Amino acid sequence: MTDLSAPQTRSDESTPSLDKRTGLFESVLHKILMRPAQVTAVEALGDKFRMITIQGAALQDVQWTPGDKIQVQFGGWVQRTYTPVEWDPVQGSTRILAYLHGESPGAEWARRVRAGDECTFFGPRGSIDLTKIDSPAFVFGDETSIGLVAALRHVQPAAGPVLAALEVTSLQDTQEVIQALGLETTRVLERTGEDSHLSAVEKLALDWVQTHPSASFVLSGKASSIQRIRQFLGRQGIKGRQFHNKAYWAPGKKGLD
Ligand SMILES: Cc1cc2nc3c(=O)[nH]c(=O)nc-3n(C[C@H](O)[C@H](O)[C@H](O)COP(=O)(O)OP(=O)(O)OC[C@H]3O[C@@H](n4cnc5c(N)ncnc54)[C@H](O)[C@@H]3O)c2cc1C
Repeated sequence: MTDLSAPQTRSDESTPSLDKRTGLFESVLHKILMRPAQVTAVEALGDKFRMITIQGAALQDVQWTPGDKIQVQFGGWVQRTYTPVEWDPVQGSTRILAYLHGESPGAEWARRVRAGDECTFFGPRGSIDLTKIDSPAFVFGDETSIGLVAALRHVQPAAGPVLAALEVTSLQDTQEVIQALGLETTRVLERTGEDSHLSAVEKLALDWVQTHPSASFVLSGKASSIQRIRQFLGRQGIKGRQFHNKAYWAPGKKGLD
């Protein structure tokens, strides 16, 4: 496995005392806040997705709310955020679905991690609280939102019907994971150069409002797409309280959260 604990953000090799203090502070924080665990299974769902099972005593008796996030630690203050698909507080285990979009720390970790590897993370912590959805939901997102869509099943059918629409880079890569997770009702739209696929998402959202006037909207994934859909729905008279939004990534930003 690549040494992801390499000092990627550590400052200056010429100041060993600062490094020492930073290291000490980090290890104290780790002990207080972090959950040590082990990766117990990694399932490749096609080339671009990994379902990663994380297990350990530190995950037992934990209060998890569907939609929460965890922040996986790679060392040297580098962390990346994922959405548990489920959480078993009795067994002490959770699963995350990681998208391998490129070669940056999160994607590389997910590509290389194996059963038996240690995994330390922070959380679960609040992000989108899916238990607060109290009306038929239109869920918009992308590859990074599939875990969130799967987690929604843990609050169904209380909130009523759900339509999920995802913008994706590859229909083929995404269909495979959607089928593996039993989320076949999800609408998957391939990204286009000019973002014209977002007009199709707007049309789906508009149809949803017409049949479900008090609908909830759950928007996650790419920041600029969320902004566009949010503004479009705002112009249709959708009120702020109907939205549950969280940007998961933005081009050019690292570890957005
Ligand atoms: C609350 C929350 C929950 C999340 N849940 C999940 C989840 O369950 N599964 C999951 O896979 N991701 C999830 N994400 C998104 C994930 O944390 C980001 O994609 C993260 O940037 C990946 O880290 P990285 O080191 O691979 O890329 P970074 O080093 O953070 O980013 C490097 C560059 O890669 C590009 N990039 C980053 N993410 C993507 C992407 N998805 N597609 C295309 N280009 C990208 C950007 O241009 C960025 O500048 C979540 C994020 C948040 C905030």
